[in-house]
Amino acid sequence: MRFSKLLIPTTKETPNDATLASHIYLIRGGFIQSVGGSGLYNFLPLGKKVLDKVRAVVKEELDKSGCQEVSLSFVTPAALWQESGRLEKYGKELLRFKDRKNNDFILGPTHEEMMVNLVRQSVKSYKQLPLNVYQINLKFRDEIRPRFGLMRGREFLMKDAYSFHTNTEDMQREFALMEETYKRIFTRLGLDFRVVEADSGAIGGSGSKEFMVLADSGEDTIVVCENCEYGANIEAAIAKPKHYDASTEVKVMHFKAFYDEGETKYVNFVLPKDIQLQETKACNAVGANDLIEAENVDTVAIVVIDEALKVNVPASNYKAEEVHYADISSVCEGDTCVHCDGILRYTKGIEAGHIFQLGTQYSKPLGCNFLDENGKSVPMVMGTYGIGVSRLLAGIIEQNHDDKGCIWTKESAPFDVQVIVSNIKDEAQVALGEKVYQALKEKNIDVLLDDRKERFGPKIKDFELLGIPYAVVIGKKLSDGMVEIITRAGLEKEEIVAENVVESIIQKVL
Ligand code: ATP
Ligand code: MG
Repeated sequence: MRFSKLLIPTTKETPNDATLASHIYLIRGGFIQSVGGSGLYNFLPLGKKVLDKVRAVVKEELDKSGCQEVSLSFVTPAALWQESGRLEKYGKELLRFKDRKNNDFILGPTHEEMMVNLVRQSVKSYKQLPLNVYQINLKFRDEIRPRFGLMRGREFLMKDAYSFHTNTEDMQREFALMEETYKRIFTRLGLDFRVVEADSGAIGGSGSKEFMVLADSGEDTIVVCENCEYGANIEAAIAKPKHYDASTEVKVMHFKAFYDEGETKYVNFVLPKDIQLQETKACNAVGANDLIEAENVDTVAIVVIDEALKVNVPASNYKAEEVHYADISSVCEGDTCVHCDGILRYTKGIEAGHIFQLGTQYSKPLGCNFLDENGKSVPMVMGTYGIGVSRLLAGIIEQNHDDKGCIWTKESAPFDVQVIVSNIKDEAQVALGEKVYQALKEKNIDVLLDDRKERFGPKIKDFELLGIPYAVVIGKKLSDGMVEIITRAGLEKEEIVAENVVESIIQKVL
């Protein structure tokens, strides 16, 4: 394609609300455009091209693993969410609205109910299972703090897959297959990532893993072992139990816990004085949807004592309807790995994918049953698997940029190569530019020809900002028969005999 014809509105201006490199460069490079508010973005031609490339990698690998693509209605009847019991639970992130006939609808933040509804209508027998169906479609979550550009939008593109099985073992086989499939996807996209144990929260289920793109700007803290493969989101991380004696000072923390249908309870958490409370673990320990710190009150419904204090702090020390022990403490840096006695450290990650062993959480209430070999009707066993496709664009740039702009990885780049004609008034340069452009296109190389009537300075700045892996610069040295190839990562320059440039690029790109 020709730069002169493409809508690529690059700018030097950094958006006011942008702090992350990916947010700044995706806007400045004219990949995306904010839509008059927070968390909504238009994808311009280059952004759409990158999104399509990433999406294609995701689709190819899923299809190879036997998943089938469908496309669900984005507008979801609220009745389906009533059936699963999630309508009340989901809270303010869920956008609800009515149609002209006063029927209730939501914009899908995730599509378990919709996919279960699709399957319960079309799958009746064990002979039709297992099944893994997915879509790559929009999601809407009315996030309380949309920020960081594509990282945390309100409308975003997700790949969501759902698998259906006759039994748990088969679901676990698929879960392992999806883990491998995700590893291939993230590897192809050129990402440095780590698979970590994750919190399964309110959904329950036994296994859940997150795919973390490692980056200092990541919002998630992950605990990794220096010695072995162990890695976990801090929300789910465990360490070897520490030993405390009777003289250990303890602290009591007061919270208000929120449950379904507006129910609240006061709860206390007891833990060693120098240990931090892990709020997700604490939330799980009292079965709540959310916790907010509260004043000390007289009547407390639940007291949870950290497991580490089991020997020294008897439950009878506290008065409440319910007193029990649970792991509610945060793993600290320097703690000991339960698997190998290695030292645990913190690192930061961007959650790019999440895979989940779901069980019958949705199939039961929604009546998604099949007839087994004995003709008995039983609920299907499910798994669910998400990838934040638009968030991946941000993740790729968080890992691959410098102070000049984006550095796209091979499979995510909007173009393979950019041909820059330095001086558009120089006929020889223009002629060679056209020739190289056509020759590369014939070899199926995705090439952007910078044929704009601009000076060389802004052209090279745009190349650096856009982050296409290679540039061919056709400039003054052409009078000596030479051109230049620049590799965007590292900005290394090579002089090449003009006649050989097509061959050199083919070798680099293919
Ligand atoms: P987070 O903890 O970051 O809010 P989540 O746990 O709510 O994410 P899931 O429900 O597991 O996310 O959704 C699957 C994937 O969708 C996530 O792994 C993430 O990559 C992506 N995702 C979730 N929320 C957003 C968002 N607001 N903007 C962009 N991508 C998102
Ligand atoms: Mg998640």
